[in-house]
Amino acid sequence: MGIVKDILYKISNKRLLPVFKKQSIFPYYHIIKDNPVTHIENLYSFKNKEQFLSDINILSSNYKSLDPKNLLERSIEENSFLLSFDDGLQEVYTEIYPILKKKNIKAIFFINPSFVDNKEGLYKHYISIIISSLKSQNFDKSTLDKISNIFSFSYHSVEEFKQKFTSIKFTERGKINDVLNLLNINIEDYLKKHKPYITKAQIQEMIDDGFYFGGHTMLHPPLVQLSYEEQKAEIINSIDWLKNHFNIDYSFFSFPFSDRSISKKLIEALLEYDDNIRIFGNSGIKKDMDARIIQRFSLENPTKLTEKRIIEENLYKYFNKAIGRYHIKRN
Ligand SMILES: [Zn+2]
Repeated sequence: MGIVKDILYKISNKRLLPVFKKQSIFPYYHIIKDNPVTHIENLYSFKNKEQFLSDINILSSNYKSLDPKNLLERSIEENSFLLSFDDGLQEVYTEIYPILKKKNIKAIFFINPSFVDNKEGLYKHYISIIISSLKSQNFDKSTLDKISNIFSFSYHSVEEFKQKFTSIKFTERGKINDVLNLLNINIEDYLKKHKPYITKAQIQEMIDDGFYFGGHTMLHPPLVQLSYEEQKAEIINSIDWLKNHFNIDYSFFSFPFSDRSISKKLIEALLEYDDNIRIFGNSGIKKDMDARIIQRFSLENPTKLTEKRIIEENLYKYFNKAIGRYHIKRN
């Protein structure tokens, strides 16, 4: 649907935003930062603080800030917005938290417990670190050959190499250590020096300040690559971890990568785990199989205008309604 959305973005006029204000929106991000970040820079681009502040102003002047507490107590009011941030990066604490606190805007932060305190990192982040290292060696062909051999893929260009290396299977992530060794990258040192992820002490401080946290699985796997039992454990363990460490009595969860192909059986198991759970996807503005599932869209792309992005998502809602894809069907 990339082409349709591109067209909708192009035809969006930012003066039309008030037309769509009734529709509540749930924008999400991962990181806000003024400088490049090695473990992210080869995965996606992100906004700087000035751009984020501008987003906050656009959202606050057009929508009412929704407190996650109200989300748990009643249904969602019209014309609300609620921000959330995935992956529990350290910038959540160093950059985003101070801004939201100053603006008095509550938000939900979704974290992977395995990475909290920086003993271990997300395999995709390791891949980005490796690609940056390869870049510094001008993508030396013999090194690329060795790496493609480790993962048994072929490639014809650096771009194809990056694309295939970035999409290796979750079960192959152990081999990333071989690549780190090959390139003499000491990942423990990297984690210690850069502290990519939030710490328990920082989470506690933010909770004490009225912010909300949710699970995002333990290890951030592409869930479709796991069995049903593994999926359920990855999700529930991440919510339980928060409850055990921070005395949290609510259940929030967001799907890593995508909620597409998530089964009805898995959703039902999560609703059974806690019948007041709120589950977050990233399928845009859509209605899911249950009102406790909230669909979000990303405002992360720094090259797009925020008002136009919001209008694009609203127009895409009507497009999906027209082609019968507004209601998400799960098997
Ligand atoms: Zn994520």
